[in-house]
Amino acid sequence: MKTIDEAAGRSGRDPGGVRLLAATKSQDVAKIRAAIDAGVHLFGENYVQEAKAKQSKIPDPVEWHMIGHLQRNKAREALRLFTVIESLDSIALARILHQEAERQEQTIRAFVEVNLAGEETKSGIGENEIVHFLEEVERLPHLRVEGLMTIPPYREKLEEIRSYFRRLRRLQEELRELEFPNIDLHELSMGMTHDYPVAVEEGATIVRVGTAIFGPRKE
Ligand SMILES: *Cc1c(COP(=O)(O)O)cnc(C)c1O
Repeated sequence: MKTIDEAAGRSGRDPGGVRLLAATKSQDVAKIRAAIDAGVHLFGENYVQEAKAKQSKIPDPVEWHMIGHLQRNKAREALRLFTVIESLDSIALARILHQEAERQEQTIRAFVEVNLAGEETKSGIGENEIVHFLEEVERLPHLRVEGLMTIPPYREKLEEIRSYFRRLRRLQEELRELEFPNIDLHELSMGMTHDYPVAVEEGATIVRVGTAIFGPRKE
């Protein structure tokens, strides 16, 4: 995608280090097929039921990530539907995902969702709790934590959003310096339609874009 390549260029990054995830919530299967034809192969869904319905109609070998809050009673199904759970937001969820993965003799990959602004309305682990969180999930061998994900507060001004992306990047660096033996936080999932070029400039390895690809969502 040209915009991603240009943003990577501005910050001296290799555009190959940024993957485009198409966020498909409330978008229909025809539009997803068109995106596949246009070369998109990574998709994100917010709800297990919706993902299940769509995936049954899309046999293509594309990759699906869970990007919405995952209820614990949907963990088993999520394991079957998604390659990565980007929205790991509690120890309880981590434990149940681990338990299900162990039962199925597999490993589930996940990113920790970080709630940088401490917004009550959003899920995610607070910056102050994340070291403790990683100490806990490190003991779960069937859960592989590979990165951080965030949804910053909405701001009209992109420069205000940039500071959140910087914080996530800095947090990633700090956590990597702590050298958790079983955790390699190499992924940074950040940036949506309104702000993804800024996220790329600040180090995103995955941008999650919905509206800019599919047009407005049906509510
Ligand atoms: C809907 C959604 C997106 C995409 O949002 P757009 O503004 O349409 O690009 C990205 N990430 C998450 C977690 C979402 O729920």
